[in-house]
Amino acid sequence: MTKPPGKLLPLVAALLCGAVLAQAASPSGPSVTSAAPVVSSTPGLGLLGTPVEPAEPSGSKPSTPPPAKPAPPKPPADDWNLAGHGKVLYLTFDDGPQHEWTPKVLQVLRKHHAQATFFVIGIQVAQYPDLIAAERAAGHRIGNHTYDHKTLTLLPEPKVRQEIAMGIKSKCLRPPGGGTNAKVQAIAAAYHQREVLWDVDTEDWKKPGTAHIEHAILAGARPGAIILMHDGGGNRSQTVAALDQALTKLTQQGYTYRPLPC
Ligand SMILES: [Zn+2]
Repeated sequence: MTKPPGKLLPLVAALLCGAVLAQAASPSGPSVTSAAPVVSSTPGLGLLGTPVEPAEPSGSKPSTPPPAKPAPPKPPADDWNLAGHGKVLYLTFDDGPQHEWTPKVLQVLRKHHAQATFFVIGIQVAQYPDLIAAERAAGHRIGNHTYDHKTLTLLPEPKVRQEIAMGIKSKCLRPPGGGTNAKVQAIAAAYHQREVLWDVDTEDWKKPGTAHIEHAILAGARPGAIILMHDGGGNRSQTVAALDQALTKLTQQGYTYRPLPC
């Protein structure tokens, strides 16, 4: 007498199928990075190759029509391939938050649907926590610009450590004045902060006139460029005006503005 195979086979098939499905469902993409790759960067673009994002999980409804006007794809949280996203600019503002000029910069950014990165000074963060909250709420990112804006290359090592550690918690550090060296980079790396400089210096802190700042932004604009401006450290009326005018033109050229993955 032979066993009727009809009952056993489907069971085996189901088990096998289940095993395959379980295998497929297991996270096969890049695992969560335990420690972000902290590599000191030179001012420039496309600093690190980052793992390709895993594709959308299959099984979504094929019949869903695409939205009429899709939003630009959001870059992965730690994507430093800045030049790899087309006409995207990375606007950055140092030396805030500041009670008069930071809100004005935020207003211009809102008007142009731009998101940016603010490298803030720890002492001022303590003074104006509401401005940091407003920046975050608007989708901007925050970078560490040290606690007291000291030139790190002129400080003894324990002081460098203190300046970085007491600044705002962030994945990015912009050393004041761009002053850096191997020691500063190593300490930043120990705090899991990536050094971020810039590609375009608008020299707005010198108050060279609105036209000069606007020209610097427009002339330096290219896919992935990091642009340096200031929302603190003095009267920033030229910066605010130049930003408004430059973004009007750049948006017409097809540029969008994203925060750095800080
Ligand atoms: Zn600064």
